[in-house]
Amino acid sequence: MSLRIVVCVKYVPDATGDRQFTEDLTVNRDDVDGLLSELDEYAVEQALQISENSDDDVEITVLTVGPEDAKDALRKALSMGADKAIHVEDDDLHGTDVMGTSLVLAKAIEKAGYDLVITGMASTDGTMGVLPAILAERLGVPQATLLSEVKVEDGTVTGRRDGDSASEQLQASLPALVSVTDQSGEARYPSFKGIMAAKKKPVESWDLEDLEIEADEVGLEGSWTAVDSAAQRPARTAGTIVKDEGEGGKQLAEFLAGQKFI
Ligand SMILES: Cc1cc2nc3c(=O)[nH]c(=O)nc-3n(C[C@H](O)[C@H](O)[C@H](O)COP(=O)(O)OP(=O)(O)OC[C@H]3O[C@@H](n4cnc5c(N)ncnc54)[C@H](O)[C@@H]3O)c2cc1C
Repeated sequence: MSLRIVVCVKYVPDATGDRQFTEDLTVNRDDVDGLLSELDEYAVEQALQISENSDDDVEITVLTVGPEDAKDALRKALSMGADKAIHVEDDDLHGTDVMGTSLVLAKAIEKAGYDLVITGMASTDGTMGVLPAILAERLGVPQATLLSEVKVEDGTVTGRRDGDSASEQLQASLPALVSVTDQSGEARYPSFKGIMAAKKKPVESWDLEDLEIEADEVGLEGSWTAVDSAAQRPARTAGTIVKDEGEGGKQLAEFLAGQKFI
């Protein structure tokens, strides 16, 4: 038996840098450092653990929709241990919202072939957390979202979803889609051997034509949502420095009380 897993990974602007917007109110992804969304590392990790615990022949493909630099996110996932990568890139994708992104991902996943799709719980930039559900609907497969434990056995994926008051055990027959949380297990660091091996792993590039998607189905024109305005947050004001000259503790307590923290 073989099991084909597709892991959706997003290349996101580094959250420690300033978020900038371009003139058309889209996020500036060109002039900022980016990286593999931290929450998607958990999705890659779960795919690797399924593979390691399986007697089946498991193939892990990582997939991203993003600009040229998004290849960095794919390389990181490959160096963690994924087998191959697909990069969907096209100038007409600029400004595509979640509906367009899910369309592109669905077409790419269908073209690649799959038994199980794994996504993160949310991206660290858009953080909508809805893409997995929309993607499952587009693929017409069952979804089990926000899992903190995933297992695959006998053509079935099972998982635990931890809520505030109860833990649910979910089960779906393959093909299916699951999203995993940051509680699913620490993501591994790529080893030196993994980094070297990743350089030789295949990375396919597809554009909209390869996926038979028309330009007006994506981009700003095809988006169901529009951003009306975007503004930088006001700069942080300077903090208050309490110098300890014998009365530091008292001054600190007074400050915290004044701010109603205590
Ligand atoms: C170059 C570029 C320009 C964009 N411009 C806009 C824009 O102007 N307006 C707009 O609304 N949106 C835009 N998007 C799309 C947006 O960044 C999100 O990809 C999309 O809206 C999904 O929202 P989210 O990241 O909040 O998804 P979430 O639902 O928070 O993500 C959940 C999971 O879905 C998967 N996922 C999400 N996005 C991708 C992806 N791109 N590739 C692979 N897996 C993914 C990951 O596994 C992630 O953990 C753009 C994307 C790109 C790459």
